[in-house]
Amino acid sequence: MNESDSERIAHMLKSANYKSAPNIDGADLIVVNMCSVRQSAVNRVYGLNKKLVNLKKNNPKLKTILTGCVLNSDKQKMKKIFDQIVNIQNIDKLINAHQVNKSYLSCPALFSSSFSAYVPIMTGCNNFCSYCVVPYARGREYSRPSSEIISEIQGIIKKGYLEIILLGQNVNSYKDKNGQHFPELLKTIHNIPGDFWISFLTSHPKDFSDELIEVMANSPKICPYLHLAVQSGNNQILKKMNRNYTVEQYQKIISKVRKKIPQINISTDIIVGFPGETKKQFANTKKLMRKIKFDMAYIAQYSPRPNNVSFKEKKERALVLNKILKKTALQNNQKYIGRKVEALVITPSQAKTKSFKKIRLTKPAVLGTFISCQITDAQAWRLIGHPLDATQNDNINSDQQNAKRDNIPV
Ligand code: SAM
Ligand code: SF4
Repeated sequence: MNESDSERIAHMLKSANYKSAPNIDGADLIVVNMCSVRQSAVNRVYGLNKKLVNLKKNNPKLKTILTGCVLNSDKQKMKKIFDQIVNIQNIDKLINAHQVNKSYLSCPALFSSSFSAYVPIMTGCNNFCSYCVVPYARGREYSRPSSEIISEIQGIIKKGYLEIILLGQNVNSYKDKNGQHFPELLKTIHNIPGDFWISFLTSHPKDFSDELIEVMANSPKICPYLHLAVQSGNNQILKKMNRNYTVEQYQKIISKVRKKIPQINISTDIIVGFPGETKKQFANTKKLMRKIKFDMAYIAQYSPRPNNVSFKEKKERALVLNKILKKTALQNNQKYIGRKVEALVITPSQAKTKSFKKIRLTKPAVLGTFISCQITDAQAWRLIGHPLDATQNDNINSDQQNAKRDNIPV
């Protein structure tokens, strides 16, 4: 989300005739777009202090702006580091960009990729999970009008983009002023003519509907990839986190999704060391990870409030989960060996499957194109694949057929 916000800020700057400096030393204006979800990200911004002081010494004209998710508790100290702290909604006024009275999300983006585009469909959150700063830092939910999203995507597809990644803190609760909800929005995007992939981040289990599963299963342009944060495998901890679902409900969603979309790649977020998490409660998370067999998990150590799980213990718990993940991710990836898959080339030596698996290519391929690829080997975090030329593409199996053949767990 922050990367996407930065792309929109960059466009505003460009439209107000700012030019990109060749490096930070040559800049007259520096805009820092901050994330406060974890203390490590906040500390990185504090760490800029010395650099900015030196830059100012060499260039007294330099102006520094801090925007993004800034917590009130950090503002006082940040005021000493930056010339101004600006709410991202008002950044257009500050840099004289022509964006007045519209959400910054409505501003076009200066995409950093020429083939993948982040499109924010909403921002903010109403859920107030007890560990999370997002509702305070980004405010309540706001959904962009669907007509605006559709026309932006139509323009992006016309420019030849191959991948649209829809963004929101909780895309499942997207609802615009006309009552259009997320599955309907997905269907409309899917109906835009063209050969492109659609994916979305992130979903909340409590709002994950059967209708959404149906739309995903019946829309070939939607990637068979689902990021669904579970956070913990223990119901008491989930309650304390204010997540509003149980482990059993989470498992039920995963079973339904795997039944309807056998080739699905599933990733998750987990927090270890939530205040008061006992070894027994943590054991439930290990059990759940072994049961679900995630393809990927972003395992965070609870940050940073004082609590009774020590730093050392949190580190050890994260290592234990990473070990389980490495095993299940490798097992899942090994099922791809011998398959021919459709892939998007993201660097000359790297591609990704429609289900978001990274592939190291055995020979270079053209950046930003769809290719077919023979998977020859698998590691935990990536596949190894050989790009095929057009004559070798005839008998590509669909991901769905491959998944059925390989009996991926449902
Ligand atoms: N809205 C998404 C959801 O509910 O699944 C998550 C968005 S949140 C910004 C991204 C992730 O950051 C969370 O899923 C959580 O695992 C992690 N996170 C948030 N607050 C945290 C904290 N205090 N300590 C550690 N990790 C945290
Ligand atoms: Fe944070 Fe996600 Fe919970 Fe919202 S739903 S409070 S963004 S973790």
